[in-house]
Amino acid sequence: MTQPSLKPMRVKFSYLEEQFQDVDLYLNDIKDLVLSADFTLGKALEGFERRFAAHCKMPYAIGVASGTDAIMLSLKILGVGPGDEVITTPNTFIATVGAIAMTGARPVFVDSEGGYVIDPSKIEEGITSRTKAIVPIHYTGNVADMPDIMKIARRYGLYVVEDACQAIGASINGQPIGSWGETACFSVHPLKNLNVWGDGGVIVTRSPELAEKLRLFRNHGLVNRDEAVMFGHNSRLDTLQAVVGNRLIQQLDWITERRIANAQRYDEALGELSDFIRVPKRRADVKHVFHLYMVRAERRNELLAYLHRRGVEAKVHYPIPVHLQKAAAYLGYKEGDFPVAEEDSRTIITLPAHQYLTPDQIDYTIEQIRSFYLNER
Ligand SMILES: *Cc1c(COP(=O)(O)O)cnc(C)c1O
Repeated sequence: MTQPSLKPMRVKFSYLEEQFQDVDLYLNDIKDLVLSADFTLGKALEGFERRFAAHCKMPYAIGVASGTDAIMLSLKILGVGPGDEVITTPNTFIATVGAIAMTGARPVFVDSEGGYVIDPSKIEEGITSRTKAIVPIHYTGNVADMPDIMKIARRYGLYVVEDACQAIGASINGQPIGSWGETACFSVHPLKNLNVWGDGGVIVTRSPELAEKLRLFRNHGLVNRDEAVMFGHNSRLDTLQAVVGNRLIQQLDWITERRIANAQRYDEALGELSDFIRVPKRRADVKHVFHLYMVRAERRNELLAYLHRRGVEAKVHYPIPVHLQKAAAYLGYKEGDFPVAEEDSRTIITLPAHQYLTPDQIDYTIEQIRSFYLNER
């Protein structure tokens, strides 16, 4: 049995204080932008969209104002709106469901499986004559079972919009996320794997028609300064944020590799604590990018407090599943409707796994978990 480490450490959840030590490089890029006054759309954004698409191995990427808008605009451009239903899972960040609701459509939940993603075997129970689309979430950076989801979507003629806000760089069967559904929606919020200095989002698609329509839709439907072919939103990705993204995207492969390595270190050690910690089954066909390193834990709340006392900033994503939020009351769901998602909300814990953590910090975190279960009885 390992003794608890005597030397306390701080294991932060956020990396933002470390990430921009080379801030002057970014500021110089921004200075160039300001002097060129190329503030809306423009060269930097085109460059970012090209790099983003290349990273996703997809032909088209469209920068928008946020991940939430990426989902909402995708659904709206596909014609989803009032009177329609959209299927998703209740264990997600609130924004997925908010984006669906903001189209005027009704969110319909089905339960998730042990890897925190939608359970394809439950989807058909949620389908009615009003169902228009499925929004699977590649939650935590794990990939929803896209081959099965696409089979169901084809059978019922449903659109699929992938919520990939946590999963840039992920793939299944070697096929990148975003290449399955009509679109995939990414966020570059400061806390996502690829992040900028404020809000931002990106939509990727294989379809040249959808790409063209989305480019118009995010920019008032304008084909040029004076002519609009449809009414639209003002939801462009800020060119200033694209400047930041252009520099940071060069680190994305490194960021992803570091997160995967940290997760493997946790997986190996926590696998030995299987009486107390349940690590999701890792699928060999999935490249999981570990936006969140999430496991189920016995006595979760006690463990969380214990880790906090010892300097480890673990978190819970999230203690209230979306169907039990006040915002969702009008949908009429109740406790017990989604047992897997509800059990998740009571037992999951997210451990720090970001790219700036050292192996020592991961080992320290593991040691605290071990001592919580084995020594503190
Ligand atoms: C972050 C996130 C969103 C929303 O992205 P924003 O850029 O914050 O609007 C949507 N879905 C999931 C799963 C997310 O993690």
